[in-house]
Amino acid sequence: MKIRYVAAGLALVASAAVQAQANYPSKNITMIVPFAAGGPTDTVARLIAQSMGKTLNQTVIVENVGGAGGTIGAARVAKADPDGYTIFLHHIGQSTAPSLYRKLSYNAIDSFEPIGLVTDVPMTFVARKDFPAKDFKELVSYVKANKAKVTYANAGVGSASHLCGMLFMSAIETELTTVPYKGTGPAMNDLLGGQVDIMCDQTTNTTSHIKGGKIKAYAATTKTRVPSLPDIPTTTEAGLPNFQVAVWHGLYAPKNTPKPVVDKLAGALQTALKDATVKQRFADLGTEPVADNRATPEALRTFLKSEIDKWSPIIKKAGVYAD
Ligand code: ASP
Repeated sequence: MKIRYVAAGLALVASAAVQAQANYPSKNITMIVPFAAGGPTDTVARLIAQSMGKTLNQTVIVENVGGAGGTIGAARVAKADPDGYTIFLHHIGQSTAPSLYRKLSYNAIDSFEPIGLVTDVPMTFVARKDFPAKDFKELVSYVKANKAKVTYANAGVGSASHLCGMLFMSAIETELTTVPYKGTGPAMNDLLGGQVDIMCDQTTNTTSHIKGGKIKAYAATTKTRVPSLPDIPTTTEAGLPNFQVAVWHGLYAPKNTPKPVVDKLAGALQTALKDATVKQRFADLGTEPVADNRATPEALRTFLKSEIDKWSPIIKKAGVYAD
């Protein structure tokens, strides 16, 4: 008798879950961005959130949970209910944090369900408008001569700007003074105001200020020149061929989010990446939406693992660790 009640109870719970998945989404979805508002990850998130919301017929609200290079936001999502109402947009930092931090409260692979890759974004090495160097070579000489007097803004250990700075300092064997922010949105405000000297950030955040002459651009950290910023030399052209990093973004849900829900989100992501408004904004900002076959759970799962394997030895060699 008792067993029959339990079985009936379980069947009810299971059918409620199936019903909830069929009706998904029936309320607003929160997209966590692990950096401050106004920065490049936030910009990408807001563009795709708006378009995904149209497809899903619900509002996708962007919530900024900045700090500790993206790991605070990641930890929040790892603990969220796996019901599809909390999703997470992060970048390359999802693959570097496991090597940079001695302890993380989550596992970059096992605590999440990948939804799909989102973009590929070049990085630009920039400085305050009146920085005393006419090109990248001069910048390197200046930095070597002035060392810790030069301030480098980043979004904390684990951020893309941190990774780029770490690679730069290791390439020129010179340590600068780093100034961490909750995101490169607020860091850019200080660079514009001249309170910090240099930064490396995604074109999503730097393009309009470079074009407006409000900051100086010295190099693009990519193999080839960025089409939307054709005058900026690559780091290879500027004399540091081993200093290269390109950023990518991925969309995730907490582990155990049901597959039909993840698939629905992946479909909405693919639609967003083909949305004319999104594509135009991305093109203006030098940000490339990925093709459909990369905006999938499987592609992100495989790519994330390959990026963790790629960065782990490089970071170990550089010897940067945070608690
Ligand atoms: N792009 C920044 C970084 O990781 C973070 C941000 O989007 O604010 O350096």
